Amino acid sequence: MPELPEVEVTRRQIAPLLVNRRIVSVATTRPSYFFLTPPRTLRDRLLGRIVVGLDRHGKYLLARLDDGQRLLLHLGMTGQLFGAGATSVRLLSATGRGSLSPEAQATGFSPDGHTHLRLSFSDGGPQLFFRDTRKFGKVQLLGPDEASERLARLGPDALSVGARHLYASSRGRRAAVKTLLLDQSVLAGVGNIYADEALFLAGVRPSRPARRLTRPDCVRLLRSLKRVLRRSIETGGSSISDYIRPDGSDGAYQDERRVYDRAHQPCQRCGTPIRRVVIGQRSSHFCPRCQR
Ligand SMILES: [Zn+2]
Repeated sequence: MPELPEVEVTRRQIAPLLVNRRIVSVATTRPSYFFLTPPRTLRDRLLGRIVVGLDRHGKYLLARLDDGQRLLLHLGMTGQLFGAGATSVRLLSATGRGSLSPEAQATGFSPDGHTHLRLSFSDGGPQLFFRDTRKFGKVQLLGPDEASERLARLGPDALSVGARHLYASSRGRRAAVKTLLLDQSVLAGVGNIYADEALFLAGVRPSRPARRLTRPDCVRLLRSLKRVLRRSIETGGSSISDYIRPDGSDGAYQDERRVYDRAHQPCQRCGTPIRRVVIGQRSSHFCPRCQR
């Protein structure tokens, strides 16, 4: 699932394809749970609008329009946002991949049945596609003063929050610190990979009850969290399942993971085998010696 870094990488690469451009055509697939705003309404209200900015909060992208509306985009599990001209084999389904010749795979993308939203612009330049094979992604158009239930549920963005907030949020919580980090109402944007990595860097065991975090733990943990998030953004995010960078290239962060998905391999710091446990139904990876 794309986490904060992948969404931020997407934002940075998509922004030039969206901002300051006037939408002249909106093509969608048929109404489905992918569209929180019905496709017909989307078309009516997006036509002629100019995108004036592209923001991110947690894992959500928000395109601001010149009339005050905001277009909310969420990648879900397998969402892909990219411009015409991107090439990546991950743009094709696992089954579709094998049936195409290498040439066909390399010549770029033509919209298919999974391409739920397609925007064209008045300058005649590249179109923008939102493709999602499993349709857990979401599109919603918010009016100028319309509140979003989804955004209202989110805590502050993980990159902008201070240790004091984490400490305050952890008071009285019996839940594991790993569960606290994944709680989007506490910190928006953190998912499994970066939570595990940050806990390793901070020397905190994922199963420790959140209420047993000290202030210095929170300072270290938040510093570690921001470090892994920023580092992942720098390297283009993790290439996980269907996530692609909008230009179609691969992210490289997965090469730098220290614990995530490394069960039974030696800890890079002390050599102890990395352990995997399930906490709050999510797999967690940690070094039993370095993390307490
Ligand atoms: Zn270790």
